[in-house]
Amino acid sequence: MDSGWLVLLSVAFGLVVGGGFMALFHVAERRGNSAVDVVNPAVPDGVSQVIDALESAGVVLDPSNNVVKASPGALATGLVSQQVLVHSELIDLVNTVRSTGEPIVQPVQLARGPFGDASMHFLVRVARLGSRYILLLAEDHSETFRLDEVRRDFIANISHELKTPIGAIALLSEALDPAADDPEQVRRFAKRLHTEAARLTRITQEIIELSRLQAADTLLSAELLDVDHLIASAIDQNHVQAELRGTTLVKGGAKHVHVFGDEALLIMALHNLVGNAIQYSLDNSRVGIGVRVEDGVVEIAVTDQGLGIASEDLDRVFERFFRVDQARSRNTGGTGLGLSIVKHVVENHGGDVRVWSQLGRGSTFTIRLPEASTVAIAAQGDSR
Ligand code: ADP
Repeated sequence: MDSGWLVLLSVAFGLVVGGGFMALFHVAERRGNSAVDVVNPAVPDGVSQVIDALESAGVVLDPSNNVVKASPGALATGLVSQQVLVHSELIDLVNTVRSTGEPIVQPVQLARGPFGDASMHFLVRVARLGSRYILLLAEDHSETFRLDEVRRDFIANISHELKTPIGAIALLSEALDPAADDPEQVRRFAKRLHTEAARLTRITQEIIELSRLQAADTLLSAELLDVDHLIASAIDQNHVQAELRGTTLVKGGAKHVHVFGDEALLIMALHNLVGNAIQYSLDNSRVGIGVRVEDGVVEIAVTDQGLGIASEDLDRVFERFFRVDQARSRNTGGTGLGLSIVKHVVENHGGDVRVWSQLGRGSTFTIRLPEASTVAIAAQGDSR
């Protein structure tokens, strides 16, 4: 065989062997692909669409706990990140269901973020989906949980706040009998009885008022109101208290602006602010009440030069039963409900209340309400 034939033969041999390897490689690759399909076939059609449509968190996990499908809610609440479940509590539930085959429904409390104490509350359902997958559904109940907590706190607060004057009245009335022969003692106990009873009356009235305001979304009897008249009435109602403390109430000039609302409620809100301004100032102080209108918003500011409020307490003063100085406030008859009432009244009128304060310098509480439009004022005038 000459060398030319030898070269041709080796080239042909090379082609056959190379081709064979290529063919083997392709077969192997196709097998591999179908193996991946078998290991991770697509989530059944219907399931995928249901998960897409879910508002709450829905997740499908494969046998290695990789997330193969997650609803937008699961991502938004931070339950899933980078194709895995973030919280070990949920992974434990998934593993349990995978090993027992039994579905689980249970409330779960999860950390809201990597640090901090804030938590989220979910009702979690985990079940098998076919033979390979696990389906996890989580309903976010955090808001309901928070409201429940607020309600529990409120009831605890109320019972505590009511218990104190009721307990005092019980003790004082018991003490009256043995002191019957001592008119001085009797008079003293009777005076204290009167104070505690008055306090009890005030708390009860304010609690009822607050519950009424919270229950009502809208105002039942809204009418066109002259803001100057509201301020004059509130000042009038605080007149005696101001005189007792030697406080001068200073009112700005008439502004002739109008708002829509419930007259009695708005006067009560202003009355509470003026009352506080007098209460939390030294004797012989000045309290100013001014009105400003800007871009259709009426601002009524009550300013005092009193004790002021520490910055860490400022956010809390509108909470029910919150008092900066519990003991002192109780002595002065404070219930800690006055500012919650103000807040609810103005919110029911589509407005808000803001506070500026500095310890030792004084405070300004500003009620902001939508101004009644001139068209509305004219319409009211016509209908009269
Ligand atoms: P209270 O019946 O105790 O006055 P409020 O809800 O009206 O209840 O006020 C809550 C707390 O906010 C008060 O106990 C007081 O400590 C503080 N506060 C309210 N208004 C003023 C003010 N003008 N100056 C200083 N502190 C105030």
